[in-house]
Amino acid sequence: MTISQPTTTERSGRQAAARRELVLRAAVHRRLVDPEDALLAAFVDLDGMAASVAALHRAFPDSVDVLHTFAAKANCLIPVLERLRGLGMGCEVASPGEFAQALAAGFDAARIVLDSPAKTRRELVQALDLGVAVNIDNWQELERIDEILRTRETRETRETRATRSRLGIRVNPQVGGGTIGAMSTATATSKFGITLADEGSAEQLLAAFRERPWLTWIHAHVGSQGCPLDLMGEGVAAAVAFAEKVNSELGRRQVVGIDIGGGLPVNFAGDDTDPTFETYVDRLRAHAPALFSGDFQVVTEFGRSLLAKNGFTAAYVEYTKTSGGRHIAVTHAGAQVATRTVFMPDAWPIRITAHHPSGAAKDGDLVPQDVAGPCCFAGDLVAKARPLPLLAPGDLVALLDTGAYYATNHFQYNSLPEPAVHGYTVDADGGVHFELLRRAQTIAELVSAGR
Ligand SMILES: *Cc1c(COP(=O)(O)O)cnc(C)c1O
Repeated sequence: MTISQPTTTERSGRQAAARRELVLRAAVHRRLVDPEDALLAAFVDLDGMAASVAALHRAFPDSVDVLHTFAAKANCLIPVLERLRGLGMGCEVASPGEFAQALAAGFDAARIVLDSPAKTRRELVQALDLGVAVNIDNWQELERIDEILRTRETRETRETRATRSRLGIRVNPQVGGGTIGAMSTATATSKFGITLADEGSAEQLLAAFRERPWLTWIHAHVGSQGCPLDLMGEGVAAAVAFAEKVNSELGRRQVVGIDIGGGLPVNFAGDDTDPTFETYVDRLRAHAPALFSGDFQVVTEFGRSLLAKNGFTAAYVEYTKTSGGRHIAVTHAGAQVATRTVFMPDAWPIRITAHHPSGAAKDGDLVPQDVAGPCCFAGDLVAKARPLPLLAPGDLVALLDTGAYYATNHFQYNSLPEPAVHGYTVDADGGVHFELLRRAQTIAELVSAGR
């Protein structure tokens, strides 16, 4: 007789589920979720986040000079950014708001990277004043930087560098897209970067580097979620090859660094972290060995892969009903906190768990149910025909893997307020400690914001 042992996946899945249940029960107990006052709340696992950051740092060899920045758009809460800074991360920002949040979170300018697609002149001047790294997206932006630097050079002595910022070009390696079109940034016609493969483009870029000794970085971000690792590796390899070409054609080591972007996909189907940072670094070694030669400094910009699996969102079931044979649970989590899942359900499916009002996991026969949100449109569903123990009013649902790009990227619809976000840690005795990362927006604030 053989006794089947649980696989590592099963064991880690059970542990993760038990931890979430413990946290949800504690949250109910402390009324961080409450059927009157906190119908919806999001949670970030601060221990998990620290472990993910540590795994990222471990994955790159010590021989490479690497600055890991966190892509602020994935979770822009200042207390989260502050924690990440404490864990040794820099910060990648892509709008004036994120830029201000990164500064408020205390990041040194030298550890911030500005990647906004539509950088205003004011944003660029601020970055160059502070010494924030800038990845230039297009030819017009490059001209704008030229102008800003010219006006400074007339003010400053010849010896003074006009800016301490690391200045680079975002290239589009045009290696193709992944499974989600909207997330694929290295297609032939992507809106991002300066193309490498278009007729004459690489030559024009080379000339731009020749004329501008201060252009010293190359940036490539191939996509976010849905991109196979080999596609990402090919994109990085094309960026590295172009950097080497610039240096050999110019006969000097002008390009000193490669910013490889982020985009490591996340497994939304289970609790395993798959792929890992380690696996990605292995693929990068295979595609772009020169990245690890020590000849280049490296910057990374991961977002989703650091936070997504370290968060969940809890919401009450307000009503249940059947309609045309469909079981529907009407909950308080919909498009306002799960925007992509609601509007692109095939690209962004998430796992959902069912819980009693106490937070304890529900068991029982699985019944296909639609899990609906509170928004006034028919498509506001976070799951369709999902087999779950039959939900009842007053139960809770948990939306898993929502630590990045969910509750912290709120969508204003039906004047639904932003829910609170709580961080948590669990001590060795199973004690759960909460820390408020963002308080819930009040209805009074919603009303006053419009005046
Ligand atoms: C969105 C974005 C990232 C982060 O992507 P993730 O998929 O969250 O890792 C990094 N760099 C740039 C330029 C981005 O636009």
